[in-house]
Amino acid sequence: MALAFDEFGRPFIIIKEQEQKTRLRGIDAQKANISAGKAVARILRTSLGPKGMDKMLQSPDGEVTITNDGATILEQMDVDNQIAKLMVELSRSQDYEIGDGTTGVVVMAGALLEQAERLLERGIHPIRIAEGYEMASRIAVEHLERIAHKLEFSVSNVDPLVQTCMTTLSSKIVNRCKRSLAEIAVKAVMAVADLERKDVNLDLIKVEGKVGGKLEDTELIYGILVDKDMSHPQMPKQIEDAKIAILTCPFEPPKPKTKHKVDIDTVEKFQNLRQQEKQYFDDMVQKCKDVGATLVICQWGFDDEANHLLMHRNLPAVRWVGGVELELIAIATGGRIVPRFQELTPEKLGKAGLVREKSFGTTKDRMLYIEHCANSRAVRYSFVVLLYALNGCYKPISNKMMIEETKRSIHDALCVARNLIRNNSIVYGGGAAEISCSLAAEAAADRYPGVEQYAIRAFADALDSIPMALAENSGLQPIETLSAVKSQQIKENNHCCGIDCNDVGTNDMREQNVFETLIGKQQQILLATQVVKMILKIDDVISPSEY
Ligand code: ADP
Repeated sequence: MALAFDEFGRPFIIIKEQEQKTRLRGIDAQKANISAGKAVARILRTSLGPKGMDKMLQSPDGEVTITNDGATILEQMDVDNQIAKLMVELSRSQDYEIGDGTTGVVVMAGALLEQAERLLERGIHPIRIAEGYEMASRIAVEHLERIAHKLEFSVSNVDPLVQTCMTTLSSKIVNRCKRSLAEIAVKAVMAVADLERKDVNLDLIKVEGKVGGKLEDTELIYGILVDKDMSHPQMPKQIEDAKIAILTCPFEPPKPKTKHKVDIDTVEKFQNLRQQEKQYFDDMVQKCKDVGATLVICQWGFDDEANHLLMHRNLPAVRWVGGVELELIAIATGGRIVPRFQELTPEKLGKAGLVREKSFGTTKDRMLYIEHCANSRAVRYSFVVLLYALNGCYKPISNKMMIEETKRSIHDALCVARNLIRNNSIVYGGGAAEISCSLAAEAAADRYPGVEQYAIRAFADALDSIPMALAENSGLQPIETLSAVKSQQIKENNHCCGIDCNDVGTNDMREQNVFETLIGKQQQILLATQVVKMILKIDDVISPSEY
């Protein structure tokens, strides 16, 4: 509180805003933050691995999401606590940079926080813990580099890529079809990849879903997919060697504007006007035919009469196509967008080997496929169409949820394939890489004379929590399983031993073909360490108090 005087010399009291706020300092602040972070990590822990559980989340407007993707769970959880929000950001960063490992990174951060709490209780200063964690993360990242393998693949042999994508998909709802989906993801990525520059533009791949049908019906389309159909049901459903006129101008007679006045007081005049309008449109259709167009794609609509006429004149047309799609069609088919009807010339037509309309699933929704495009090598636009129905259950809501989750899983697989093209180093999954790093950190700890060695050992223990969570989620005894695998790694000097989550009979992850990208795993460790360091360095939490 402070005493102040106004311009008339009257005293008044200023209550500092600070005093209306709640404040946590020192160890209390760190403990409160750690428990908030741990609470978020605990939620995701049960979702880790091939036997991880799914979460069901309901948004305020009643929309339901079922997922086991870490980033999606956190995104939808609507957390209020600032530290919990940091964990959400952590998962989002992993998703943005790598696309996979979003659950693992949060579980890892949670474990690091848990270990830090114990060290704080033993009186170690948070800064020393943070420094120890930093050292340990460097040891782990370098160790990962040492134990990484190169995954050899080529355009003719993409099977190794498929295997890695299958590992990603095995922990998802789409497990049943992981082979075919992994193949589709790899083919799609290879189609748009620039292998020389080792780059992949995932924006060129679009994943579409339609309700109805089966997951097995998923297909990869090399071309453009437009969520529209032919304007008239009797128009041809398939056009080979299509020459496409891409129009952004209205495909109909000019409408009289409001300021013009047309006096129609006799039947003849009306019929005359109609005739003129018809003639005008007829001329437009003729013009399209003259330049050689066999398909017209319009940004605008045309009325039913025009539609009928188009059908009659045997000129298939598609109406109400969005601007972005029009642009893509133009690039892919090598055509030009025509903004004025007079400018339509044969050179401006786009070319596609096949344009077909296909109907889907129970709802018989129709979509237009534009394939074998003239310029497909330059644009290399590929799409995945997903059709999914929950075994015999055709409730649209379950289908929609499934499609959304399948899309997320495919996105993870696409990211994994992209990461491997960028850098083809891999480490073994099922907790094998974490156990190996944990052993390396444990061994290195003794070399550090300071208090940091406790933090390095704690880091090693935190790394163990990933295989422990995998074992726990698979119904195995976590401590026994981990110690058995750990001793096996030391005895056989084999860093590929992990948790046999699926009860295959071997815990050699090389034999099980369970691997993850090196950059993904390194990123997980680095990101988790950074966030935990940030949390540990906060020693004062000032927040508005609740009235
Ligand atoms: P994230 O969102 O972090 O990718 P997941 O739920 O996909 O989380 O689980 C990934 C973890 O599961 C990784 O540690 C991976 O090594 C492990 N994993 C995936 N498939 C298997 C498997 N078949 N056997 C053992 N571990 C597996």
